[in-house]
Amino acid sequence: MDLEEKAAVTSGSSFWRSTAVTGVPDIMLTDGPHGVRKAAPGGGILDSEPATCFPPAVALGSTWDAQLARRVGEALGDEARAMDVQVLLGPGINLKRSPLGGRNFEYFAEDPLLTGILATEWVKGLQSRGVGASLKHFAVNSQETDRMRVSADVDERTLREIYLRAFQRVVTQAKPWTVMCAYNRVNGVLASQHHWLLTEVLRGEWGYEGLVVSDWGAVADRVEAVRAGLDLTMPGPDPEGDRRLVEAVRSGHLPESTLDTAVSRVSALVRAALAARAGKPEAAGADKAEAAGTDRAEAARTAAAYDKDEHHALAREVAGRGIVLLKNDGGVLPLGRREGTIAVLGEFARTPRFQGGGSSQINPTRLDNALDEITALAEGPVTFAPGYDDVDAAVALARDAAVALVFAGTERETEGADRESIDLPAAHVELIERVAAANPRTVVVLSNGAVLRTGPWDAAVPAIVEGWLLGQAGGGAIADVLFGRVNPSGRLTETIPLHLADHPSHLDFPGEAGHVRYGEGIHIGYRGFDARGQQVAYPFGHGLSYTTFAYGPATVTATDGGLNVRLSVTNTGDRDGREVVQAYVSLADSRVRRAPRELKAFASVAIAAGETVEVDLPIARDDLAYWDVRLSRWVVEGGTYQVEIGASSRDLRVSATATVTGDDARVPLTGESTIAEWLSDPRGAQALGEVFAALAGSGEAGVMANTAADPEMLTLMGSLPLARLSVFAGEAFSPAAIEKLSASVN
Ligand code: BGC
Repeated sequence: MDLEEKAAVTSGSSFWRSTAVTGVPDIMLTDGPHGVRKAAPGGGILDSEPATCFPPAVALGSTWDAQLARRVGEALGDEARAMDVQVLLGPGINLKRSPLGGRNFEYFAEDPLLTGILATEWVKGLQSRGVGASLKHFAVNSQETDRMRVSADVDERTLREIYLRAFQRVVTQAKPWTVMCAYNRVNGVLASQHHWLLTEVLRGEWGYEGLVVSDWGAVADRVEAVRAGLDLTMPGPDPEGDRRLVEAVRSGHLPESTLDTAVSRVSALVRAALAARAGKPEAAGADKAEAAGTDRAEAARTAAAYDKDEHHALAREVAGRGIVLLKNDGGVLPLGRREGTIAVLGEFARTPRFQGGGSSQINPTRLDNALDEITALAEGPVTFAPGYDDVDAAVALARDAAVALVFAGTERETEGADRESIDLPAAHVELIERVAAANPRTVVVLSNGAVLRTGPWDAAVPAIVEGWLLGQAGGGAIADVLFGRVNPSGRLTETIPLHLADHPSHLDFPGEAGHVRYGEGIHIGYRGFDARGQQVAYPFGHGLSYTTFAYGPATVTATDGGLNVRLSVTNTGDRDGREVVQAYVSLADSRVRRAPRELKAFASVAIAAGETVEVDLPIARDDLAYWDVRLSRWVVEGGTYQVEIGASSRDLRVSATATVTGDDARVPLTGESTIAEWLSDPRGAQALGEVFAALAGSGEAGVMANTAADPEMLTLMGSLPLARLSVFAGEAFSPAAIEKLSASVN
């Protein structure tokens, strides 16, 4: 391959294809994430081949079910394969930092553990079909405002513990074939040119061996991108960029070996993808295929076609599992089949809001609507009014009905723009309020991609069904939940605040003048609400069921691998159901600031009416670690950890503790360490004590001798770095003396 070819192969040949050069064929990369958007040549965003529109991540995330995520990944893999797509551009695993986030519907949660676990299984499922994932957008791409330029300014602990943690989990556990860099800057540097992110962390620390692809149009400077560790710039072609790369190598500005590395990763990806397509994952991508759990037989078995009806049924199942029953006073739901007249009000019941706008927009194979599906399940009459512009007619129907279902939600949520408010449109609020005044049995069914404030109208209605954006089979899924064919088990992955201004991100979203400061630090979402003891409308993890569950006492055992949590949960009602059991961990008196509790394990368990099941919630030791900025590494702090287990972050039913042995986290003592730090370290206290004792009685310097013994002196002097003592006590704390002292204790 000559230099020109090497340059060309590191960018696309078109919007969706890599470049073929001597010895390296091309492959197709396509959005993603909740369906295969194989664009028609020259067509617009909606001109793609029909594919199943599975529930967007907002709904898949709300299932809290990793196995379901895996099945969706597998189904997407089958469709991508059938459409001859080699890499599907997903999953999107940025965190929902603010409810205003325009792409929250494409992301799983405000919590990195939940996001990471679901996305890991999704990637494994997809790649088990011989189709590569593209884990995106790496990293800290939690807003749309100024997304191509803005610098997300985040301290390192927050970056590691919150914004990179899900990426780390998926990269190390599922080995995605590709990782897509984000558009934005991270602490001032474009993600596409971020050597620390793309090379030091991703490859150096996490051992990533796959390919880094740019987000579409994210690369400002091809040479700097390649130098930072970006392998494939999309889209293409980019002759000017190719020319600059060639020139940079010829002039010695970029080592040819650096370009060769990118070329070898492109060619490895292409070979692995084509081998997998041929059903021979061992040919070139054995490591990748194996890591993704592909066995040869499985890949070979994968048929070239998929069953549209089966996938539609899966989309309905997942949508039903993602719906969250926020409120159900007086047991208004489920509806009886012989309910009497059901008034269905609101255009969204007939014209569903089932996906968001932008690159993830799928041309569905079918589209259910709730009105038809409710009509199909109801035995009595169903009436309908479109509602929003026609409120009087809707109210009249509600008055004559046994129950009124009001469909409300956001008009549009899309990539490219953050939302301006978390309120329902005024016309929808008016519809809810007037219908509720006419019929006390009013149920609100919401369609939205990120959370909405319910406060202004919540008290007016007995029941609220959070129906998110549910994909093409959402209409049927809503009917399933309303009639109790599916007992709801979806849970919030994003806190619903009482007011936007309460939100931890509020004062620093979306930033200005090219910067957004992640001022709330590690206190994203529920962590921040809990830390400030704030009331919320509906907490993280919340979701009701048509049955009830009782939690037995829990045991927590510490092992070398982490914590084993075990408890029994009983379905105490008369319907089969599913409980999402959640374990939150805290450590009192930690040496670092922590959220009051953090999700560390969860399980979605089916429990038949009257049955009891044992639930195991293993917590890996790594997941207990915090990022120690002094040591620049992960540290598990020793101490007694409390594990609280319950049905939401604010409905904690049982708890237990276990003592964990900590990692060695001793920070070496130096002249920059304070007197208090020296004295709090046993070896340091001993050594410093001896120096002080030697000074005793020697005038002003001798006063120092009291520092250790006298609490007032310690308060006064404790914060003084040892090196500064040279001013008071001369030679005893000269640089040479401190060096000797440090050497004796470190
Ligand atoms: C989006 C990506 C998407 C890409 C290709 C970008 O605008 O940020 O998520 O995969 O376009 O359509």
